[in-house]
Amino acid sequence: MFNLIQLPYNLDALEPVISARTLEFHHGKHLKGYVDNLNKLVVGTKWEELCHSELSEESVLAEIVRNSDGAIFNNAGQILNHNMYFQQFAPVSVPELVEGPLMKQIIKQWGSLEAFQTEFVAKGVGLFGSGWVWLSADKDGSLVITQDPGASNPVVKGLKPILTFDVWEHAYYLDWQNRRADHLSALWRIVNWDVVELRYKR
Ligand code: MN
Repeated sequence: MFNLIQLPYNLDALEPVISARTLEFHHGKHLKGYVDNLNKLVVGTKWEELCHSELSEESVLAEIVRNSDGAIFNNAGQILNHNMYFQQFAPVSVPELVEGPLMKQIIKQWGSLEAFQTEFVAKGVGLFGSGWVWLSADKDGSLVITQDPGASNPVVKGLKPILTFDVWEHAYYLDWQNRRADHLSALWRIVNWDVVELRYKR
């Protein structure tokens, strides 16, 4: 059985960037829907056994995403994506990204954190329709920004995803309506860089 993750903060902790009302729907309705769907879909498939293995839920989801299609791919992908998304945020007071392997690599490739953030937001704004913008690392630790449509995840391309912004309208429409660029730019205020850095180093 797949489980709905607990949010590592209160529903109103990310305001005004993400309202409690948006989180209530996004986590409690949208993500829960994907979890309920996948739990029904895997019954009687080869994935059912994997769910009862020793592997972490994240590893199981990534394995399904790499090797499935259709409804199972869509629901497993959306659970993997949302789990990473919700767990990378913290209330507005979190410290900025500090000097470390990730910051060094960002400076090496983009020149500054601001230049990276500008390109990341532009890629999110430029993604047509629903999907996700991701920062991932390749096998050599180089960083790459990708636009992934629908429920896709960079693990499909053999990359290690470390940061993502959800650009489905359900992620921001209650708070920001059509102002996707403003919403994405505001998300930097709640990114928990400690989590992102840990993903990069593991
Ligand atoms: Mn979403």
